[in-house]
Amino acid sequence: MSITPLMPVYPRCGVRPVRGEHCHLIDENGTRYLDFASGIAVNLLGHSHEGLIRAIQDQAATLMHVSNLYGSPQGEALAQSLVDVTFGDTVFFTNSGAEAVECAIKTARAYHQNAEGGDASRFEIITFHNAFHGRTMATISASNQAKMHHGFAPLLDGFKYAPFDDLEAAKALIGPHTAGILVEPIQGEGGIRPASDEFMKGLRALADEHDLMLVLDEVQCGVARTGTFYAYEQYGIEPDILATAKGIGGGFPLGACIATEKAARGMTFGTHGSTYGGNPLAMAAGMAVMKAVANPEFLAAVREKGERLRTRLEQFIGNYPDLFELVRGKGLMLGLKMKFESRPFYVHLRDNHQLLTVAAGDNTIRILPPLVIGDAEIEEFFDKLSAGAASFAIPEAA
Ligand SMILES: *Cc1c(COP(=O)(O)O)cnc(C)c1O
Repeated sequence: MSITPLMPVYPRCGVRPVRGEHCHLIDENGTRYLDFASGIAVNLLGHSHEGLIRAIQDQAATLMHVSNLYGSPQGEALAQSLVDVTFGDTVFFTNSGAEAVECAIKTARAYHQNAEGGDASRFEIITFHNAFHGRTMATISASNQAKMHHGFAPLLDGFKYAPFDDLEAAKALIGPHTAGILVEPIQGEGGIRPASDEFMKGLRALADEHDLMLVLDEVQCGVARTGTFYAYEQYGIEPDILATAKGIGGGFPLGACIATEKAARGMTFGTHGSTYGGNPLAMAAGMAVMKAVANPEFLAAVREKGERLRTRLEQFIGNYPDLFELVRGKGLMLGLKMKFESRPFYVHLRDNHQLLTVAAGDNTIRILPPLVIGDAEIEEFFDKLSAGAASFAIPEAA
């Protein structure tokens, strides 16, 4: 047998972390890495946050799982705290981002198909080029990326793709069967590409005009990452439905689909469910994250650190015009766009300078530190990045 016990769908690298300490990961050999990847925007409180650990430990000792057939004081409390700080009126808890997007897609369809006065022929969702919404059948179908489709035909019917940030193209796809629009306000895997204000405001206006559900995928950009609790706040709009995950559990698997009362009108008894979704253990983790991040002081600190990091990155790339093209993003969701495929530089930073970032589409390096970084981590980051840029040999092929 040559297949590995772990199904070989990930090209795993040689870094094998066994422990986390605040903003660092320590591998099997004791090597310390500065973690500016945060498990891809997950560990927003770093790796050994006392409040989060205690909440999980206490809840694990009290009650870990019960069925959604029973009342859920823990779920009600976390849902209420999300409702309090967002556009939403109601929340469905999931265990991952893809499940949150799945629920969002179902909610958008059911809005039309499972309501009095609705239109049962509406099912299409407009999505955008280079989007990433997860790896389930519905969520790969929601992306136009052929590399995610290959080998998995047939896709789920009902998605139409427009170029990202192109309002006219989105408008042109609206027809009698359109149910909604699904978009990442800031594309993550696609290369930390923020949508423009005009685009987001325009999508909101189109949705209003045609009675479409505006569905935001804030799985990566949400939960304080950009300096507001959700990124939509910075666009001066509100969605009808929002998918959130990654940071919301701080490292514990947790996601949610948040909707307005109107948008959720089709999600009636028996239409949706999840065995684990909303279990007390996940709720405790989510509550600990909310306590830490859903306050003006924490959000202001993220904005301040984000601006500082961005200003210094912009100065820094001026020293290496052959390597870097620009810096983009919001808050502590930053992208460093390179002049060639970013993966070799990302590998160089990781293997030779013990700095963890994430490669992304459009020649971009993703910089996604824990939101709790301080001056020491920012200094260490620039030390490693500078050393990495100075010692990097541009690949022949570039
Ligand atoms: C990571 C991600 C997902 C999928 O989340 P999983 O937890 O891996 O299922 C969906 N949408 C966006 C924007 C993401 O970044």
